[in-house]
Amino acid sequence: MTVRRTLPSRQRTFIGAFCFADHYGPDDISATGGMDVPPHPHTGLQTVTWLFEGEVLHLDALGSEQAIRPGQLNLMTAGRGICHSEEGTLARFPDQRHLHGVQLWTALPDATRNGERAFEHVADVPAFDLDGAHVQVFMGTLGGVTSPARADTPLVAAQLDLPAGATVRLPVDPAFEHGVLLDSGALRVAGTEMEPAWLAYLAPGSEEFVLEAGAEPVRAVLFGGEPFEEQIIMWWNIIGRTHDEVVEAREQWQAAIAGDPEGVERFGRVTGYDGPPLPAPDLPNVTLRPRRR
Ligand code: MN
Repeated sequence: MTVRRTLPSRQRTFIGAFCFADHYGPDDISATGGMDVPPHPHTGLQTVTWLFEGEVLHLDALGSEQAIRPGQLNLMTAGRGICHSEEGTLARFPDQRHLHGVQLWTALPDATRNGERAFEHVADVPAFDLDGAHVQVFMGTLGGVTSPARADTPLVAAQLDLPAGATVRLPVDPAFEHGVLLDSGALRVAGTEMEPAWLAYLAPGSEEFVLEAGAEPVRAVLFGGEPFEEQIIMWWNIIGRTHDEVVEAREQWQAAIAGDPEGVERFGRVTGYDGPPLPAPDLPNVTLRPRRR
C-alpha cells in the first residue's frame, strides 16, 4: 500500500516526542488485500495507531488481540521490548472497502524507555466542537479535554475535521511545538496554504493558531509536544541511545525468533498470527550516530 513517511524528514526529526509519522491510504483493500505486517519488535517507543477508515487487528506479546476502528486509539508502549503483528480483517468483515489512517511513534524518555511493555485500547476518545470543527483528542489535552492514554512526556494528538469554509482558532499549549498533517481537503494553517499529505510545522510560542478550510471539508491530524531534547538512534523498529544498544536489540530479536529464551524474555512472542515473524534487516556497515532535534 502507499505509505507517506512525513516524519522524520531531512528538515525535521522530531515534533515534541513524535519521531515518526506514516500516513497511509486510502488503500482499496479489495484490490490489494490490505495490511499484513508479521510479528516484529520495538524498543524505546510507543506506536500510536489511528484510523480514518477500515479495521486493523493488533496482536502482541502481552496476549492482546485488539481490532481497531476509526475513532479508536491503539497505543503500544514498547519499553525495553515488545513484538506485535498488524493485519487487515477483510476476511472477517468483507464489506470493508478502504484502509486509511496514520501511525505515529513517540520516543520514550530515558526514565521509561527500559520499562515494562504495555498496550492500551481507547474505544471512546474525548472530543469537542469548536467554530464548527469536530476535534477528537486521542493523546494529551486540547480544548479542555484529556485523553486517558498514557503519555510519558508532555504531548498532544488529535484528529481535526473542519466543514468547508470554516475558520477555527485552536487554543494550544505555547510550550509545545506542533505538526499538522493534512489528509484531505484544502487547508490554510497559520496563513500557509497546504496540500494533502503535507506536514506543517509550528514552533513553540503561540497560544492559538488559525486553521482555515477551503471549498471542501478538511480532515487533518494535529500532533506535538514539548521539544524532546534527548538524543536517540532510530534504526528499523528499534530506538536506542547508542550504536551498541541497537546492535544488542537486533541480536536479541534474531535470538527471539530462533526460540532463544533470553531473546524471548526481551521481546515476548505473538501467538495467533498465521506466518513467521519478520527477521531484522542487516545493519549498515557503519557506526549508527545519534540524531537530535
Ligand atoms: Mn510495529
